[in-house]
Amino acid sequence: MAGEDKKQQPFDSKAASSLVAELRGAFASGTTRSYQWRESQLRGLLRMTDEHEQDIVAALRSDLGKPELESVLYEAAMLRNSCKFALKELQRWMMPEKVKTSLTTFPSSAEIVSEPLGVVLIISAWNYPYLLSLDPVVGAIAAGNAVVLKPSEIAPATSALLAKLLGEYMDSSSIRVVEGAVPETTALLEQKWDKIFYTGNGRVGRIVMAAAAKHLTPVVLELGGKSPVVVDSGINLQIACRRIIVGKWGNNNGQACIASDYIITTKDLAPKLVDVLKNELETFYGKNPLESKDLSRIVNSDHFTRLTKLLDEDKVSKKVVYGGERDPTKLQIAPTILLDVPRDSLIMNEEIFGPLLPILTVDKLEESFDIINSGAKPLAAYIFTNDKKLKEHFVNNVSAGGLVVNDTTVHLAVHALPFGGVGESGIGAYHGKFSFDAFSHKKAVVYRSFMGDAAIRYPPYTNGKLRL
Ligand code: NAD
Repeated sequence: MAGEDKKQQPFDSKAASSLVAELRGAFASGTTRSYQWRESQLRGLLRMTDEHEQDIVAALRSDLGKPELESVLYEAAMLRNSCKFALKELQRWMMPEKVKTSLTTFPSSAEIVSEPLGVVLIISAWNYPYLLSLDPVVGAIAAGNAVVLKPSEIAPATSALLAKLLGEYMDSSSIRVVEGAVPETTALLEQKWDKIFYTGNGRVGRIVMAAAAKHLTPVVLELGGKSPVVVDSGINLQIACRRIIVGKWGNNNGQACIASDYIITTKDLAPKLVDVLKNELETFYGKNPLESKDLSRIVNSDHFTRLTKLLDEDKVSKKVVYGGERDPTKLQIAPTILLDVPRDSLIMNEEIFGPLLPILTVDKLEESFDIINSGAKPLAAYIFTNDKKLKEHFVNNVSAGGLVVNDTTVHLAVHALPFGGVGESGIGAYHGKFSFDAFSHKKAVVYRSFMGDAAIRYPPYTNGKLRL
């Protein structure tokens, strides 16, 4: 835990249990429920991000070689926007929502009261380790909960920074960071929580959900999947390619949950699409992308090996039409495009989560919907088209966490939209008010007076009452 000597005090089940007990005491005192506490904690997060932006950039560079602009825009600024939006809306969110009543309860009034759930656990992933750790924390504290955050051990510099800064800027009687890997997370998962919010892969998502089930604890699971991009003809191909590139390689070199996983286009359009992608990639990252300062590296050697295995499968390696270079010493893989990879290849059967982009080709674009719908439901799906019917068909027939027409990834930045998966890409959603709701119980309250006491409710249930 922040400020403690981990060697002398391993974070085991006993430590986890006493941490939860401590936070339960703090929650029971009522401190976290007040508007003032919630506001001060959100302001603390904002100040922390403002005052330590360069430390955040340095930690992300150390963990991922993340370019400064990506760190500032997609981690620090997005977190700031979340805090500011919550601060602006908090009073409105906290207000009970009046609802209509029915004749059965006449006369009465009713409202939905949002109450904090209690003590919540947030387990986050390594790819956007600052944003993905703190964005759910924004929702949890806005909703008035005590929080334990477990950042990812795979981004150790950011994890250490979070532990240090949250200790300095937040109310440590109610908000704590536990650093660690599987043993520490397992100890935490043994405890009874009021909600568990997990971001990461589906295999661990299942472990989290099974642990939560023992205590009937509700979960939000922010998972991943293979997010497709459908590309139609008759569009501005240059703009489409730039938007595909920035959503893929400009997002942590493809290590992003909503990065495009693969493209589907027609056999006719594919050669032109590949050409434009190549040109634009060269404009952005130069002739030798392994030297580019504008691409993150692969997070660690395990993921580097996983990705090269996908690329080096016999039936896949011969399909590379651009890129394929790698440098194991620097953990770098160049932006790589593959054309017509077999559907039964490894790369088409797991989430890529890296800089490789396969293109599948079809005779008619409508076939793409069957391809997408035949797999697990993705976290996002994108289409580039000017065809109104095709757009409608896409929106009405493709099931994914979120969709974007004529761009990629930008739905993430719209506060009014829920962000989350469906099916294997996740359970529940957050962002904006959805974050507040994810960490609140919606309590149904009916107010009655002593007037209008209908005798029909009460026994004896005579035939006369039936005929009324
Ligand atoms: P990760 O390896 O950092 O794991 C996530 C968390 O799970 C970590 O805190 C880790 O300590 C914990 N963990 C790992 N193994 C565990 C175990 N056996 N028991 C208990 N806890 C364990 O991250 P990852 O899973 O590699 O992240 C990548 C995946 O996350 C991708 O599938 C990606 O699509 C998904 N993702 C989703 C979102 C989203 O918002 N939906 C965002 C980012 C990443």
